[in-house]
Amino acid sequence: MFVDSHCHLSFPELHARLPQILLDMRAADVHQALAICTTLEEFDTVHALATGHDMLWCSVGVHPDNEGVQEPSVADLVQRAARPRVVAIGETGLDYYRLNGRSVADMAWQRERFAVHIRAARATGLPLVVHTRNASADTLAILKDEGQGAVRGVFHCFTETAAVAEAALALGFHISFSGILSFRNAADLREVARQVPLDRCLIETDSPYLAPVPHRGKTNSPAWVPHVAACLAQARQLDLHTVAQATTVNFQRLFRLPAWDGQAVPGAIQN
Ligand SMILES: [Zn+2]
Ligand SMILES: [Zn+2]
Repeated sequence: MFVDSHCHLSFPELHARLPQILLDMRAADVHQALAICTTLEEFDTVHALATGHDMLWCSVGVHPDNEGVQEPSVADLVQRAARPRVVAIGETGLDYYRLNGRSVADMAWQRERFAVHIRAARATGLPLVVHTRNASADTLAILKDEGQGAVRGVFHCFTETAAVAEAALALGFHISFSGILSFRNAADLREVARQVPLDRCLIETDSPYLAPVPHRGKTNSPAWVPHVAACLAQARQLDLHTVAQATTVNFQRLFRLPAWDGQAVPGAIQN
């Protein structure tokens, strides 16, 4: 079986056809997925997905790209994290890709928001889902400062260098690969994927974005995570079964989920 460690099922493209997506997931042998929260305003919708469907769990967090939304306090995150089936803090992190005319110095609010999430992860003991884009040095520095070695988690949709992967691994983090691994111009990333220890690798779709080859450009869904697994298997010269099993066990261990028992009933809650 496969798991999708990062998807945005509350986004309208996916939320509107959720029943079909769950059927597609089962047909593709994808039995667990983590529905990621990106604003506090969205949390109730994401949380309802996780409490309403046995295949789904959720996070609580505010994405670094979201402006003009409610700014979370540590208490806002900790309170929501105490609800059933919330298994992670995030996604959070830093994104200096869209500065829109601002300087990196102007993004202090983003660094502060990231620090708030790290404090919530420390307070709850939950793993952190980290987004980093054009900001790896600051991301790692803040994680070190605020995390104090007590925070674990995942660098999601990894597109950074081997050196950044090594630094993230040294902090105890996992590395999650997305459909980008299947893109023709991603040879460097496939080389990184070869080097990360298998027991620290996760796979994800980041759907509705980043559909893997052969679906590139379409609306992605968790049912296509096996294509990411196949790319990881090919890059590492492993068989698909080995990669599926390792990434599933890693996911369940990191987010402390029960193993899928093979006969979950739709709507039933397993923890
Ligand atoms: Zn992200
Ligand atoms: Zn995301």
